[in-house]
Amino acid sequence: GEVGVGTAEVAENRILVFVRLRPMSKKEEEAGSTSCVKIVNKKEVYLTEYASENDYLRLKRVRGRHFCFDSAFPDSTTQAEVYSTSTADLVEGVLQGRNGTVFCYGATGAGKTYTMLGTMENPGIMVLAIKDLFSKVRQRSHDGNHSIQLSYLEIYNETVRDLLSPGRPLHLREDKQGIVAAGLTQYRAYSTDEVMKLLQRGNKNRTTEPTRVNETSSRSHAILQVVVEYRSMDGVNIVTRVGKLSLIDLAGSERAMATEQRTQRSIEGANINRSLLTLSSCINALVEGKKHIPYRNSKLTQLLKDSLGGSCNTVMVANISPSNLSYGETQNTLHWADRAK
Ligand code: ADP
Ligand code: MG
Repeated sequence: GEVGVGTAEVAENRILVFVRLRPMSKKEEEAGSTSCVKIVNKKEVYLTEYASENDYLRLKRVRGRHFCFDSAFPDSTTQAEVYSTSTADLVEGVLQGRNGTVFCYGATGAGKTYTMLGTMENPGIMVLAIKDLFSKVRQRSHDGNHSIQLSYLEIYNETVRDLLSPGRPLHLREDKQGIVAAGLTQYRAYSTDEVMKLLQRGNKNRTTEPTRVNETSSRSHAILQVVVEYRSMDGVNIVTRVGKLSLIDLAGSERAMATEQRTQRSIEGANINRSLLTLSSCINALVEGKKHIPYRNSKLTQLLKDSLGGSCNTVMVANISPSNLSYGETQNTLHWADRAK
């Protein structure tokens, strides 16, 4: 009926939004931080305005704000739990030929890279997704042939670079598959261990700030795209299915909020992160059901044009620190994530 159709349309452009709270770091502890974030009922994030218990006693009331998401992960959540709640369904979708996209959003130091890439001991979404793909493909090998190819690139200052084979910047061009980075390495993947090493190495190729050569620039976006192609014979016909999974470790969001109010001109002048800003505009336009989505305004959104909105599955993981010292950034991240719902 008509109600059903309407519901389906709403569901199509919905973005699943999760929040992940990381544990307090040593550094934050040593600086005397207190926690200003509480997670309740696995869905709600409670942000308290007052830094300490003393403030609370002195002020006699708690001013704070509740935010509600599809899931909120407390600091005890394992990488596997984050993966299975946020991304496992998308991996299944990709095998059915549906594109899926997962973003990690948040301020520098909030846990984006830990969530996406993780460590050798605690691999993150990128590695767990590929591991899961391998095992699903192996289980289904009797009914057709799957190939898994991956590429890993960076967008820094609107310049696209290959993280698997660093060199000259890549140009975007349109071909029958959509907008692609010309000359980007397509890596045929066979095992998870190999992929983890490859991604770790790729991550080391991310642009660093000249003043801090060992640290990844907070302005760099890392994008892993995994393309799964399925082929089988149905009588005399060849059946093919292609699905693409995009996993994105976004640039630090700390400057994004302050700049959203700026005019286009001052954005150019200040060399603001155009890709991050345009992603926000696209997500808001999609969520509001607008007809025009400004994909063309940045490299990131051009590359993701076929993987955002429509029948694609889109997931956002907003990463936050518990420390009162990051109160402002956490509030900005939660507001941003709240608007993406
Ligand atoms: P970002 O990429 O957002 O700048 P990182 O992922 O590099 O932040 O995280 C900052 C630090 O906190 C790193 O040392 C990382 O290992 C650690 N960390 C982040 N999230 C977690 C977590 N959930 N559990 C344990 N350590 C974490
Ligand atoms: Mg990082």
